[in-house]
Amino acid sequence: MVVEESMTKPIATSETEVIEADVAIVGAGLAGSLARAVLARAGYRVVLIDKRSIPPDEFRVEKLAGRQIDSLRRLGFIDDVKAIAAPYDRVLNIRNGRLVDIGVGRSYGVSYANLVNMARGLTPDQSGFLLDQVTNVSCSEDRQQLTLVSGKRVVSRLVILATGMANALGHGLGMRRQMLAARHSVSFGFTIARPDNAPFDFDALTCYGKQAADGVDYLSLFPMSGGMRANLFMFRDPTDPIMRELRRDTRQTLLRLMPGLETYLGDFQVVGQVQNWVMDLTVTEGHLQPGVVLIGDAFQTNCPAAGTGVGRLLVDVERLCMDYVPRWLETDGMGTDKIAQFYSDHDKLAADQHSLHLARYREALTSNTDVRWTMQRKLHFLRRMVTHQVDRIHPGWVMRVRSALR
Ligand SMILES: Cc1cc2nc3c(=O)[nH]c(=O)nc-3n(C[C@H](O)[C@H](O)[C@H](O)COP(=O)(O)OP(=O)(O)OC[C@H]3O[C@@H](n4cnc5c(N)ncnc54)[C@H](O)[C@@H]3O)c2cc1C
Repeated sequence: MVVEESMTKPIATSETEVIEADVAIVGAGLAGSLARAVLARAGYRVVLIDKRSIPPDEFRVEKLAGRQIDSLRRLGFIDDVKAIAAPYDRVLNIRNGRLVDIGVGRSYGVSYANLVNMARGLTPDQSGFLLDQVTNVSCSEDRQQLTLVSGKRVVSRLVILATGMANALGHGLGMRRQMLAARHSVSFGFTIARPDNAPFDFDALTCYGKQAADGVDYLSLFPMSGGMRANLFMFRDPTDPIMRELRRDTRQTLLRLMPGLETYLGDFQVVGQVQNWVMDLTVTEGHLQPGVVLIGDAFQTNCPAAGTGVGRLLVDVERLCMDYVPRWLETDGMGTDKIAQFYSDHDKLAADQHSLHLARYREALTSNTDVRWTMQRKLHFLRRMVTHQVDRIHPGWVMRVRSALR
């Protein structure tokens, strides 16, 4: 990648507190921090702005696996993730107290705050990080301007909005969040431990809900630095009294909703805080504007049960920062002709659509009571159990059949 000399100059702060950069990124969550790391590594002048110096200890993504790992490897950050995360390779999948199958493959458990801190630290020179709140964005075909609470201004050729679920800046630009599904899912995050911190008998465990009426998709247990972490994902009215029961008496409510779970867990207790999120599924409209591009949750929110949020934001970062931004900065202007290339990128569209599709699929598979989905639910778990049994008797056979059918 060829970087023009002008782009490698340090960020300049003039007396009037105007900071100039090639790219200004608003939001130092996972999306914004990784975007900065990729662009700064390539030699561009990047300003990253966030209103919080330390990422809050909020419940967000806590597991990384599969394509997310491949993407982190391609971006060159996998070793940084490995350094802060707890690895695990085997997941026992159970339902109604019976083994469904065993998932095999490297995964990692890590708190979101630690993940974001790691991502913020990927850029050794922190002079381009501004602890500030952006109050206004004004964009045009060639020069973008940010106004900050401190009174500073940032002028750049491109603005990347990575502001997560916060909507104010996009709103100011005339962008709107289209509600696809209000209060689509409910998630709980907490830590469990055995008496005397004795180890559990598994690396990781997923327990699926017993019946559609409960609205429980699954409980996922996996190692994290603070102990055995639990993520519970549900499709149920957030005002249902069961939500309060889950917050107040998490252990008993879990055991009631998931018969057979205790056999695998033994004696355990919930330690620390029980965190709880209600998620809307939304996508931003009116986003195609000169000089500004949205990534991660700022563009589209995700269903936590589907586990697609990080996959989506990694595709955004990879396609935008490794391909489009370097090409856009080679020539003058930042019109919608350039911006549209990113929004119509094949991989981005596929990741966004996959995320919505999986969100709706998980909801229907969990809680839809019509005949079709009732059958589908039964077949889904039956197919997995049979496949697992066949694979135990004839190791590798299922993989060979699957490859032959592709
Ligand atoms: C409960 C829960 C569980 C989840 N589980 C999974 C999972 O298992 N797998 C998965 O893939 N995904 C999961 N997700 C989704 C994933 O966590 C998100 O997709 C991801 O964290 C989004 O990152 P982001 O950088 O886009 O936004 P954020 O991390 O929200 O970052 C936005 C940043 O912008 C800053 N900001 C906002 N406005 C301004 C402003 N005006 N000025 C300055 N700074 C500003 C904020 O301070 C914040 O730091 C889950 C989400 C939730 C809620």
